[in-house]
Amino acid sequence: MRILGIESSCDETGVALYDTSRGLLAHRLHTQAQMHATYGGVVPELASRDHVRRLPALVREVMADGRMDWTELDVIAYTAGPGLAGALLVGASFAESLALALNKPTLPVHHLEGHLLSPLLTEPRPEFPFLALLVSGGHTQLMAVEAVGDYRLLGETIDDAAGEAFDKTAKLLGLGYPGGPALAALAERGDPTRFALPRPLLHAPTLDFSFSGLKTAVALKVGSPDWRAEYAADLAAAFQEAVVEVLVTKTVAAVRAAGLRRVVVAGGVGANRRLREMLAEAGAKQGFAVFYPDVALCTDNGAMIAFAAALRLEAGAEVKWDRRIEVRPRWALEGLRQG
Ligand code: ATP
Ligand code: MG
Ligand code: FE
Repeated sequence: MRILGIESSCDETGVALYDTSRGLLAHRLHTQAQMHATYGGVVPELASRDHVRRLPALVREVMADGRMDWTELDVIAYTAGPGLAGALLVGASFAESLALALNKPTLPVHHLEGHLLSPLLTEPRPEFPFLALLVSGGHTQLMAVEAVGDYRLLGETIDDAAGEAFDKTAKLLGLGYPGGPALAALAERGDPTRFALPRPLLHAPTLDFSFSGLKTAVALKVGSPDWRAEYAADLAAAFQEAVVEVLVTKTVAAVRAAGLRRVVVAGGVGANRRLREMLAEAGAKQGFAVFYPDVALCTDNGAMIAFAAALRLEAGAEVKWDRRIEVRPRWALEGLRQG
């Protein structure tokens, strides 16, 4: 089965071509980060307009890269939520229109299911069941995954997402937008012990997270009269250490609670080197293996959407022929099986 995947839920336009027998044939990405940097965050209307501008060329390029003719496509998959309503509508309208023109069916995909299944695109491919640590710009969740479509939420953030905390803290340190990767790079040359930061909910009885207090703690340090610019790397390191320690501790607790032996990490924060290092250590000690997507597929992309569609279809999902354009800006992953 040959699937064209389209992602436009936020500020990345991603398109990919996945073949269930030959694997990922092509994928292209345009990121709008530069465009939104001027405003210090994603401007929804600008995001929608840019998706309109980029999609036609990206789709043509992917079809050419994959040496695929329009007639050979079986399904057009697209992100139907969660995300920015306008941005989602662009992808959905584009996909449904293309499908109408080509007389092909579509398959709406849940963005987080794309992230969650993306580690299965890379060898070695983890077997089910596994624990998923989903750490992105908008979500921080621990999920027990039994099979494609069978997801049980074990814990999640009660305020900021981990990636959001990285971005907001980076802003406080003057690292621009989106600052997560810059903050992580700065932390590499900092001393994490100079500043003592809290570990929110570390010993709470639940598997939930809270990161907004950590950002406030950083704001207080940066705003204090003895703050000096040369401390930035140390504060970045202390912040990263705190976030990573909480993520790893809760992951270990979740692995134990759910009785699992495999952990899959997905979402942009999964690119964090320190997180990978600490998870590897914990896994070696506790007897679980950790799996990641390729670094390039940690953040938003079309490949994960085409791939999630492929796994859904293999699991018996039905394609859509009704041509209706519907998006779900808010959409829980857990209730997916029931639709
Ligand atoms: P969602 O999928 O929840 O809607 P999103 O798609 O915006 O959110 P992703 O694209 O998966 O999220 O990830 C982006 C986030 O990852 C940003 O918050 C970014 O700062 C963070 N991030 C990327 N690289 C790193 C890194 N090396 N260390 C820490 N955070 C990182
Ligand atoms: Mg993004
Ligand atoms: Fe995402």
